[in-house]
Amino acid sequence: MLAKKKEMVHKISNKGFTAKDVENELERFGVTKVFPEVLQFHENSVNLLKMYHDTERLRTCDMYHALERCITAAIFLYSKEMQDFYHANLSCRSRLSIECSVCIEETDAKEAAERNASSSDSSVADRTNKMESSSTME
Ligand SMILES: [Zn+2]
Repeated sequence: MLAKKKEMVHKISNKGFTAKDVENELERFGVTKVFPEVLQFHENSVNLLKMYHDTERLRTCDMYHALERCITAAIFLYSKEMQDFYHANLSCRSRLSIECSVCIEETDAKEAAERNASSSDSSVADRTNKMESSSTME
């Protein structure tokens, strides 16, 4: 029973919890040892939960979600395969709300394609104008 308790998220008091508490829990569970990068996400995850619930007083179940989000984000960063997996399942931005290199690449490519499309449009327009002006000259 005691061993099970050790693995469990600490019950949060009525005061709620802070990013520092999430950091302490991540350390207590040994997550920071396995994924030191996990500490990039704890503040953001707490802020997102506060915004989502529109409260400063987060509960024990929110602590669980904060930890889950941090750990998932750390796994995401762990390898390119994991990033591809999350991205393919649309959980990079919507679920984790973290910067995804695949999303950024795709957005850049899309923007570049749009720029190319608009610039080739104008060149088509230029050619049409030239053709029109040359035909009027005849
Ligand atoms: Zn993505």
